[in-house]
Amino acid sequence: MLLRWNKVVTSIHNLASRRAYNLSNNFILGVWNNIARVKSELVKRDIPMSAIIRRTINYREETLFWSDDWLGNGPLKLRFPKLYTLESQKKCKISDHIYDGGFSWSWSRQPLSQQVNRLIQAIGSTWLNSSKEYSQTCDLASNDCFVVDVGRRRLKTTLSGSGNCSFGWLKETPIKVSCFVWRAIQNCIPSALSLNHRGINTDLVTCGECNTDEESADHIICGCSFARFTWEWIFIWCFILLPYFDKTGEVLEFATVWGNCPKKKKVLLGICYGTIWSLWQARNGIIFNQNQITPEKAVDIIKSSVFIWFKRRSNGGIYNWVDWCKSPS
Ligand SMILES: [Zn+2]
Repeated sequence: MLLRWNKVVTSIHNLASRRAYNLSNNFILGVWNNIARVKSELVKRDIPMSAIIRRTINYREETLFWSDDWLGNGPLKLRFPKLYTLESQKKCKISDHIYDGGFSWSWSRQPLSQQVNRLIQAIGSTWLNSSKEYSQTCDLASNDCFVVDVGRRRLKTTLSGSGNCSFGWLKETPIKVSCFVWRAIQNCIPSALSLNHRGINTDLVTCGECNTDEESADHIICGCSFARFTWEWIFIWCFILLPYFDKTGEVLEFATVWGNCPKKKKVLLGICYGTIWSLWQARNGIIFNQNQITPEKAVDIIKSSVFIWFKRRSNGGIYNWVDWCKSPS
């Protein structure tokens, strides 16, 4: 079934003959546009688009000889700029120059034979008699097939190398919670301010809890008075001095390096995830159900939620509710 849909989508969008960067248009919003916008984000993190998806072998009649990266080390016009200057048909296809086991050139002026030899050497003999068809490959994966996990791992390596908050997946917390925390760190949760920036009309961008500041991700989780009270209670319960933080990533950085016991560290991290999740739930309660809770109530919810997560999902931990309520450490 998947293969059939693949054929349908490929023929509808004419993917067999169009180049990847021609699939989207800046002026037409939609799926292709969203995919193409990933390119600039990846480049910022030093991941070239060609590493994610590269058109290695194409229809010779459709692929631009000089401008497409069909050999994999960059377009030939960048690798052989002098020869490109002398080319009389700048938009020629592979089939214009390579056919019947030989080469055919169209220079405006004859170049040095050494330069042409280097170009022929770069192309290699496998192309002369090959009738290979179009395919896309991913350089990040050992089997050339892109899967999301490969991209995520590469992104994580880049992010942790650039000094950003190193996010860890906890098996004790539900996946939806971990995903939310990961998005909150990058300011990618649908706060009023972020929706407004995306052009979605929201009545107010002011925080529904304190009614003073704009509702950004960091405000909901760190800056809001409701959040500050909640964090204060949580850290008192943990017998840990509340650190100063005004970004979600900072509180997680603190929990990641806190203490020497890996087990206690994991529990603290789980409590932080639970707190972030509950602050978001409390915010949603006000907006969608007009249900405002107190920080004390939020702390009770965090205590019981994290207890259940660790009790059910942790391997070696024996957790007692009465002891847990006194202190988790
Ligand atoms: Zn607020």
